[in-house]
Amino acid sequence: MIKNYTVDTWDYIAEGCPPTPKNEYDKRIEICNACPSIIHETFKCSECGCPMAKKAKRQTATCPLNKWPKTVIGSTGKKIQITRGEKGKETNNPTGNKA
Ligand code: SF4
Repeated sequence: MIKNYTVDTWDYIAEGCPPTPKNEYDKRIEICNACPSIIHETFKCSECGCPMAKKAKRQTATCPLNKWPKTVIGSTGKKIQITRGEKGKETNNPTGNKA
């Protein structure tokens, strides 16, 4: 089960860590909440073992039972680059331009 989340994390990093848009995230959480596979005490999926509040934030993530709507990575299909801010903090930069 931890392997699933680890593989999911690598896929997410490989695509440039695209975040799930808020409306899409809310829809995923709504679907998980109504799913018989959700463990409500921990909000983990019993199919993949992943913590859904975190997994649903990753646009590359998918439902193991294909209950989530299909998603397109990035609004234009472009990868999102992670750049370092002035103080060494990582920031999402959807344009890929240097800050
Ligand atoms: S990820 Fe899919 S299978 Fe798992 S709880 Fe959510 S809707 Fe159900």
